[in-house]
Amino acid sequence: MNQSSLDLSVILPVYNEAESLPPLLEGLALVLEQLECSYEIVLCDDGSQDGTRDMIREWASRDPRIKGVLLRRNFGQTAAITAGVDHACGEVVVLMDADGQNDPKDIPSLIEKLNHGYDIVSGWRRKRKDPFLTKVLPSKFANWIIALATGLKLHDHGCTLKAYKRSILNELSLYGEMHRFISIYGHWVGAKVGEVEVNHHPRKQGKSKYSVAKTFKVILDLPVLILLGSYLTRPMHLFGGAGLVSILLGVFCWLLVIYDKLQDVVNNKVHRNPLFLVGILMGLVGIQMLMLGLLAELLTRVYHESQRKKTYAIEEALNVGSSPQAES
Ligand code: UDP
Ligand code: MG
Repeated sequence: MNQSSLDLSVILPVYNEAESLPPLLEGLALVLEQLECSYEIVLCDDGSQDGTRDMIREWASRDPRIKGVLLRRNFGQTAAITAGVDHACGEVVVLMDADGQNDPKDIPSLIEKLNHGYDIVSGWRRKRKDPFLTKVLPSKFANWIIALATGLKLHDHGCTLKAYKRSILNELSLYGEMHRFISIYGHWVGAKVGEVEVNHHPRKQGKSKYSVAKTFKVILDLPVLILLGSYLTRPMHLFGGAGLVSILLGVFCWLLVIYDKLQDVVNNKVHRNPLFLVGILMGLVGIQMLMLGLLAELLTRVYHESQRKKTYAIEEALNVGSSPQAES
């Protein structure tokens, strides 16, 4: 690690976690003290209304190693993480949830693996303590599809607890709920991705901010990810390829209809079945909608990046811009 700058930043996106955050921070501080490296904790408050913000203000006023980034409203976990990354100075960045489900005691093993030549080390919640039907099962399904679609086989893409080398995070711009795919983006830019088993605790306080609909969002995000990962510089190969296949199928259908018509010139009724047309219409509308979604994703990126717009707005930044090492 580079000793001239900060060694480690731990970033926590926080949304209404007034009960979970204090015990977590206590445990985190104990672990970080034992690591014998310079560190900072970046708390990104994503528009909490339960007193979490005041707690962060107080902690930041007492300890310069605690940075507070308070967003103006609830922008979502990805935006909160991005705000944290933008304000973190560590050579190594660890992301974790603020609800106490991730265990700070796992941080040393993540960093140790990172020091063995990895660029990203992902936590694997082997014994996950979440409801089976609404969280564990959908997550298994999502992991399987993601591995199939992206080529990166991890047991647990959804685990927030991960360690990253700073240089990998510098490459990324995250939108929507894409924080779940950071390791895939990293894999595509050549990062070596490893995995370490981590503890997982049931949520003791507060409520989960996500429902089972999360799985569908993940599946909808996948084509976007594939477009960005493999086809951003050659979208015609993707859209043109799909278009060609569709045209070939169309030609095949026309040939069948012509053949049918030639067989029985008088009583041919294939094209009079309304479902035949409804099916075609639905298929076309579906394809158009997916394509529009993909184009919109691209436009979002052009919009943000050409104007250097952020996906979040900050109300207050605490201890930011000062070197925690100098003050501690
Ligand atoms: N979170 C956030 N903004 C949101 C939703 C969640 O910053 O809009 C934070 C939340 O406080 C927690 C982490 O993201 O630290 C994960 O959220 P949660 O525990 O509710 O997700 P689950 O573990 O149930 O999937
Ligand atoms: Mg949680």
